[in-house]
Amino acid sequence: MRRLPLLAIPAVLAAAAVAVPAGQPAPQPAQVAVQLTVLRHQNVQAFDNQKVKQVLDEMGRVLQNSDPPADVPCNVSFTQKGNVGIFTGPNVISNQQQFNAVANLGAPYHIKVVSTIDWCGAYMPSAVACSPVGIAGTSIVVEEDFFLGDVRLAGVILAHEYGHNRGLSHRPGALTNLMNPGVGPTSRCVNAAEAQHFLIQPSPATVEAAPVWAGPGPIPGLPAAAVVVDPLADEKKAEKKVAAAEVQEPLVPVKDFVHMVHPEGVPYDVASRYTKEDAKVLLGMLKDPAEKPWWTNIATTICFIGDDSAVKELIAFVNGGKQEAKPTRAELDARKAAVAHLGAIVNKTANPAVQKEAIDFLAAVAQGPLTEAAQPGAPARQLAIAAAEGLAVSGKPEAAEILKKIEKSESAGADEVKAAAGQALQAHDAVRKHGLKEYYGQRHRH
Ligand SMILES: [Zn+2]
Repeated sequence: MRRLPLLAIPAVLAAAAVAVPAGQPAPQPAQVAVQLTVLRHQNVQAFDNQKVKQVLDEMGRVLQNSDPPADVPCNVSFTQKGNVGIFTGPNVISNQQQFNAVANLGAPYHIKVVSTIDWCGAYMPSAVACSPVGIAGTSIVVEEDFFLGDVRLAGVILAHEYGHNRGLSHRPGALTNLMNPGVGPTSRCVNAAEAQHFLIQPSPATVEAAPVWAGPGPIPGLPAAAVVVDPLADEKKAEKKVAAAEVQEPLVPVKDFVHMVHPEGVPYDVASRYTKEDAKVLLGMLKDPAEKPWWTNIATTICFIGDDSAVKELIAFVNGGKQEAKPTRAELDARKAAVAHLGAIVNKTANPAVQKEAIDFLAAVAQGPLTEAAQPGAPARQLAIAAAEGLAVSGKPEAAEILKKIEKSESAGADEVKAAAGQALQAHDAVRKHGLKEYYGQRHRH
C-alpha cells in the first residue's frame, strides 16, 4: 500500500510544546476519541453491538493502560458508530483484488469482519488480519475467529492493525511489543514514537488526502534544481552500515514462534532462519491434535525453513484433510498453508526427485476442481487456489507450464481456479526475478 506523509505528527508535537501562560491550568494530556463503524460479511456469524463494545473497549485499554515491561500510555478511546453493518462480496480473501474490494469499501466503513484472510501482500493463509499502512482514515480487515474470539487477543490485534493505519511498521524484538510481527494477549507496549502515531486523529474524509508531492507538476520557467554532490553522502553510508548490523533479531524458541498470532502471516525472513532440527520438532507438532489452533503457523514455518525431507509428511498432512467433510477455518487454513508454501521447499531444494514429487502433487491439487464438481469457495476450490500459488513460488519452469494449462482450460465452472492460475503466473515471474525473500517481504507494507 502506498505510504502517505504523516502530516499530523508535527501538529501533535507542536500542540504539546505550547507554553502554558501563568495562572492557566496545565493542558490535559492529548486525548483522542475515535468512532469506528463495524461491518460483517453476510456469511459471517452474527454478533451484536455489545460484542463490538467489548472488543473496542479492550482495544482502548491496550493503548491507555501502562503495561509491563515498558509502555507509554496514550489516551485513545474507541467507540462504535451506528450498528453492525453487513456487506456482500469476497468473504475468503485470496488475492489483492479481493482485499482491495473489502478494504476500499470506503469511508465511513472501518472494521470489516470476514471468514478467512489468505492474502496480505502475498498469498498467506496464516494471516488473520490485514490493513493498509499509513492512510488518512481507518480500514481494518479481520477474520471472524479473531474478532469474536478471546477478547484480550482481539483488542491487541485490532490495536496493532489500527497502528498500521496510522503509519506504523513492525517493531520486532519482544512479544510484549504491540507492533511485534507476532503477537499474543500480552503484546500491549508502545514506545514514545509509536504513541505519537496513535494520537493522530484519523480523517473522516471519504477520499484519502492526496500526497503532498502529487502536485500539478514542475512550474514552467523556473530553473530545475538538483543536488549533484550530496553533502551528507558519507553520513548516510555510515547509517546504512549500522542499520544492516541491527537487522537480525535473536530467534525465540521455535515452539514459541508458532504459538504467536502473526496478524499479517508468518514472516518469511524470520521463519526461514530456523533449522532442520526445528523442522523436526514442528513436524511432530503437526501430528498433535492439541496443536490444531497453531497448525497453519507450524506448516508455514516448516515450508519456509525449506527442509526437503519434510515433503512426504506435508503431503500426508494435506491428504489427511480429505476425511474432514466440513473442515473448520483453522483446519482448512493449515492444509492451504502446507500446499501454498510447499512451493517454497521446491524453490530451495536441489534434489530433483523431491521437486518432481512436490510439483506432481501440486499439479494434481490445482487441477482437481477442473474435473470434479465443486461449489465456488468449497474446500477443494480453496485448496486448488493454494496449489496454484504453490506452483508459483516454486519458481520452476515446469510449474509455469502447468499454470498456463490451467489458465487456458476449457473446463466450465472452475473460473476462480483459472483466474488464480493467471495470477499465479505473475507471482511465478516475480519469484523468479526477485527471489522468495523479496516476494514475501512485500507483506510488510500491510
Ligand atoms: Zn502487523
